[in-house]
Amino acid sequence: MASTHRGRFAPSPTGRLHLGNAWAAVLGWLWARAEGGEFLLRIEDLDTARSRPELTDALLADLDWLGLSFDGAPTFQSRRLELYRASFEKLRATGRVYPCHCTRSEIARAVSAPHGPADEGPRYPGTCLGLSANDSADRARSRPPAWRFRPREGPTEFRDRVHGTFVQDVAAEVGDFVVLRNDGVPSYQLAVVVDDAATGITHVLRGDDLLASTPRQIQLCEALGLPVPAYAHVPLLLGPDGKRLAKRAGTPSLGELRDRAVPRERLIGLLAGWAGLADGGPVSVEDLVPGFRLDRLPRQQIPVEPSIVNDVLFR
Ligand code: GLU
Repeated sequence: MASTHRGRFAPSPTGRLHLGNAWAAVLGWLWARAEGGEFLLRIEDLDTARSRPELTDALLADLDWLGLSFDGAPTFQSRRLELYRASFEKLRATGRVYPCHCTRSEIARAVSAPHGPADEGPRYPGTCLGLSANDSADRARSRPPAWRFRPREGPTEFRDRVHGTFVQDVAAEVGDFVVLRNDGVPSYQLAVVVDDAATGITHVLRGDDLLASTPRQIQLCEALGLPVPAYAHVPLLLGPDGKRLAKRAGTPSLGELRDRAVPRERLIGLLAGWAGLADGGPVSVEDLVPGFRLDRLPRQQIPVEPSIVNDVLFR
């Protein structure tokens, strides 16, 4: 029987891959492989100010070092602008988007994956919703508008495979959110939904900093008539500062591990230990497939102690 699981890893090439990226990549890969499914790679490089081609090359080499196999060639968001545009036109035809002339910096935030609860900034007060078509056309003459989507009111609910039922009233808590920036680049929320559907993704595993984005994405799926995938939002690895692991947290990037010829099984072992899948000793990704279970994952963020991690990796 053909598997009905197709997952993906969707990194943004804005820095070297770190332990937190490896965590999401390995868990997503394991979930797909454990269910006999496929696993795709998508490079989320719409944020042209921060994405760099050499970082994409490094990212591909790092994933290769990690030992993850992907089905098919990677897709690059920067090469799919027409696809997003077509979906935006579909949204426009529903009458649920409107032009917004508010400031550039407010709208600029829309393109990268949001991290943290206040990702869209404060709830948009609907300033431009009340503009007449004439006023809006006038203002569009000096600068093209961004476009916001009007979510339906009331709760949007889904069952997360890690966190259980998650409910958010998007209209009340987030408000009208940007789907197209004024430079024609789609927001993270729109691009993710369009790409997942276009590539047949059925299962989305990613960090739980994106849990609060999911109701927005579900609403976009509904408005565009796209299937809603299954979601698993995994806890983040936290550095000693209590923030998601990053370069300054004192743990190595995958590139450093590669350069120092650290056996990748040590890193996989650490990740497997945090996921409740193994005892933390060296292991290959393949060995973890048969025993993979999502319900062993902790729901709480995972504090990572750099000195212990470095001892294990560089011993
Ligand atoms: N590119 C996003 C990130 O770097 C992930 C998007 C997703 O998995 O939906 O966090």
